[in-house]
Amino acid sequence: MNENLNPFAIAQAQLDEAAAVLQLDPDMHAFLREPMREFHFTIPVRMDDGTTKTFQGFRVQYNDARGPSKGGIRFHPDETIDTVRALAAWMTWKTAVADIPLGGAKGGVICNPREMSSGEMERLSRGYMRNVARFVGLTQDVPAPDVNTNPQLMAWMLDEYELIIGHREPGVITGKPLPLGGSAGRTPATAMGGMFAIREAAKIVGLNLQGATAAIQGFGNVGSFAHKLAQELFGIKVVPVSDEFGGIYNAHGMNYADVKAHLQRAGKLGGCPNTEPVSNKDLLEMDVDILIPAAIENQLTAQNADHVKAKVVAELANGPTTPEADNILNDKGIYIIPDFLCNAGGVIVSYFEMVQNSYQFYWDEAMVNERLDLNMTTAFKAVHDMSVTQKVDTRVAAYLVAVNRVAEAVRLRGWV
Ligand code: GLU
Repeated sequence: MNENLNPFAIAQAQLDEAAAVLQLDPDMHAFLREPMREFHFTIPVRMDDGTTKTFQGFRVQYNDARGPSKGGIRFHPDETIDTVRALAAWMTWKTAVADIPLGGAKGGVICNPREMSSGEMERLSRGYMRNVARFVGLTQDVPAPDVNTNPQLMAWMLDEYELIIGHREPGVITGKPLPLGGSAGRTPATAMGGMFAIREAAKIVGLNLQGATAAIQGFGNVGSFAHKLAQELFGIKVVPVSDEFGGIYNAHGMNYADVKAHLQRAGKLGGCPNTEPVSNKDLLEMDVDILIPAAIENQLTAQNADHVKAKVVAELANGPTTPEADNILNDKGIYIIPDFLCNAGGVIVSYFEMVQNSYQFYWDEAMVNERLDLNMTTAFKAVHDMSVTQKVDTRVAAYLVAVNRVAEAVRLRGWV
C-alpha cells in the first residue's frame, strides 16, 4: 500500500497518536485537529514583461491559545493549503514545546522564485502583505521567513505593512535585516538551536562529536549554517551535503568555506573541487553518525528508512519523516530529534526579536545564543524525560509536552 504523503494527514495522524497516549478529552482532540482560521487569497503581480500574473496565497492561523500565532511564509511551486495547514500545526507544537508565549501559524505562496526577478519578488512580497495586513499584527499573528523567503523579503513586507498602518511597528514580522530591527543571531538561529539539540542527543547516545560524521540534506539558510556550525562548534566532519540538484561527497569531510565559495561561483553545489557527486537519495542512506534533513517534508519514507545508518537523525526540516519511516527508524534504535523540537531555534530567536522590538533595546549575539541554548536545552530535556517516563518515542514525547501545554491554555480560556 502506498503511504499517505499528505502533510496535513500526517500532522493529524501524529496528533492522534499522542492524543491516544494522553487519553485526551475527545472534544479537545477534535478542536486541536483543525486550524482555527485560514485565509486564501489571490495576489496579482505586474511581471517585468508587462503581463500580470495571479498567484495563490495562504495564511493559516492554526491555534493562538498560548499567544499571537507565529510562523514563516514559504514560497514554493508545490505549495498547497494542506502543506500550509500541516506547517501551521507544527508551529503550534513548536512554540509550545519551546515554551514561548506564542501560537502557531504559517503562510505560503504557490510560485517559483527561481524564475522570478528581484522586482517581481518585491511586488509579490508587498502583495502578500497587502492581503494579510488586516489580520496580522504584534498581538495577532507575526510572520517570518521560511523556505525561499529571506530578510530582504521581510523588509519589503514590513515596509508595506508600515505604509498601510502609518507608523513604525517592527515587531509585526521577524527575520528582518538588522538595520530594520532584526535580531543578532536570527539568521543562523535554526541551525544553532539544532546544534544545541545535537549536543544533548550526543550525550544520550554516547557519541563523541569531535570527528563524528554528518550528512546534511539541503543547503539553504538552515542546511548551510548547519554545515558551518557543526564544523566550527564541534569539529564534526560533514561528509555529504546536497541542494535540490544533488549532493557532493568527500569521505574526509568538506570545509564549509570551500563549499560556500564554490556555491557562490557556480550557483549550485555540483562540481565543487575535491568532491564526488552523490544523489539526494543516496545521501540519506550514507554511513554517518548524524543525518540532518534540512530541506523539505517527506524525505524519509517507508521506502528508504530501513537503509538509514545514522545513530542520530536531527530533523532541521519541517516534516521530513513520514509516520511509517518513524516507526522503522525507532525500531532500528535510531535517536530522532523531532522536527518541531530540533528546528525550534528559529522561532525562539524570532520571539527574542519581538521582545527586543517591543523594548527598543537590542542584545548582542552572545546574549541571544546564551538564551537560545537555555530554551533549547530545557525543551530537549522536557521531551527526553517524557520519552523515558512514558516509554514513548521522542516524537510522541514532544507531542505529549506540546499538546498538554496548548490544551491547558485552551481549557483555561474556556474554549473546550
Ligand atoms: N519558519 C521557521 C520555522 O518553521 C521560523 C518561524 C518563525 O520564526 O516564526 O520554524
